[in-house]
Amino acid sequence: MRKFILDINPSTGELIEKIKCSSPGEIASGVKLARKAFKVWSKTPMKKRIALFKNIARDLNKEKKHIGELITKEMGKVYNSAVGECAGTAYAIEENITLAEKALETEIHKEDSLITEVHRMPLGVVAVITPWNFPVGMPESLLTPAILMGNTVVFKPSENTPLTGKAIYDIYNRYLPKGVINLLQGAEEVGEELLTSDIDMVSFVGSQAVGKKIMEACSKKLNRLVLELGGKDPMIVLKDADLDKAVNYAVNGSLRNSGQVCVSVERIYVEQSIFTKFEKMILDKVKNYKVGDGFDDVDMGPMVSEAQRNHVVNQIEEAKKKGAKVLYGGSVIERNGFFLEPTVISNLNHKHDIMTNETFGPVVCLQKVKNAEEAIEKANDSTFGLGATVWTKSTDKGRKIAEQIESGMIGVNQGIGGVSGTPWVGIKQSGFGFIGSVEGMRQFTVPKKISYRKK
Ligand code: NAD
Repeated sequence: MRKFILDINPSTGELIEKIKCSSPGEIASGVKLARKAFKVWSKTPMKKRIALFKNIARDLNKEKKHIGELITKEMGKVYNSAVGECAGTAYAIEENITLAEKALETEIHKEDSLITEVHRMPLGVVAVITPWNFPVGMPESLLTPAILMGNTVVFKPSENTPLTGKAIYDIYNRYLPKGVINLLQGAEEVGEELLTSDIDMVSFVGSQAVGKKIMEACSKKLNRLVLELGGKDPMIVLKDADLDKAVNYAVNGSLRNSGQVCVSVERIYVEQSIFTKFEKMILDKVKNYKVGDGFDDVDMGPMVSEAQRNHVVNQIEEAKKKGAKVLYGGSVIERNGFFLEPTVISNLNHKHDIMTNETFGPVVCLQKVKNAEEAIEKANDSTFGLGATVWTKSTDKGRKIAEQIESGMIGVNQGIGGVSGTPWVGIKQSGFGFIGSVEGMRQFTVPKKISYRKK
């Protein structure tokens, strides 16, 4: 097992800090502390839990600039977006608070004199394992529901963002009783060790490949689990779409956070009669994209790591070899750090890995299709099923197409974000279980029935 992880600034390639990994003994004692704290925390009234979480939300918002700096340093996100992530996450805590009481309400069912009460019970100790691309938002999306539902947690942030992970932990731990949240540091070995420990549930946001390993590990003790995994989000652009809006969404959705966004734009299917025009409009916009250190006035920072950049470069090279056309960018930027040019590729099809496997990089991928039917068929030709969008003048037509798309979250002439309090969910191999709604909160509980007859 590695003793240290190296926290590298992706804009400079320089070491920020050498972080000690949690040892097997520390992992076991974190879980033990969580189990001890569970006895009291699971009995703590919801009103008190909510009051503590209000403090957590307030502090996160207050400390957004400091934590935003950590995010930009550790994973390269543009600073304003990093601060925005912290403010948005504070708001998400408030939203989760509004769902919590309803999620734990006891149901009373009656049949003549027979009464059944359905109570919602916390599970116990929940392992929370998270990625680096939204290093505040993703941990919150699992920590808050897990803890509000009465569980205690052992939290392992990504090895790429350990200091941001520690900063979130510090805010939660400032208000929650000792042992309710416990922090581990390290990479996959620490995650693997945690999965073999005395936990009751795993909640995970990360890649499809690691999600499968986690499911396998959970089978040993039939641990419950929630998995929010990667995607290959399709965008369908029909000939009657508002092209200015669609181009804006296509470019920002492909390049935002250097393309390292789970629900984004990974592949675009454009109806043939508008293809050439759309392609040109995309190019005009991408050419104005400014790339640089996230602390400067730029649209896009570096990629998180050399390994992530290599993965994207390999996909671009493979596409080129198999006949795709790189219309813009496509190369590593020769400077320190892990920068990659914003890239536009056309003439793509499903023989190209970049159209079927998650890219997670700053690439706009264009494929021409005959009509809506072909676009739907291509959109569904995937093991992934996270987000998708449809762009057409007729909202009604867009809705009907959305019904045929095999994704958990679909936007018509807009992104996938919908009304608050609705699920955040991936279908097919993009997830297992879900979060972000009353039902999502209940994934961190089990029902318990008590039945009796009233005389
Ligand atoms: P990853 O799967 O490589 O790692 C995620 C976490 O799992 C990290 O903390 C890592 O240390 C840990 N880990 C790795 N191997 C492990 C193992 N064998 N056992 C236990 N833990 C292990 O993902 P990443 O590169 O950090 O993040 C990018 C991925 O996350 C992308 O696929 C992206 O789509 C996905 N993601 C999904 C959502 C969503 O809401 N569905 C949101 C954000 C990111």
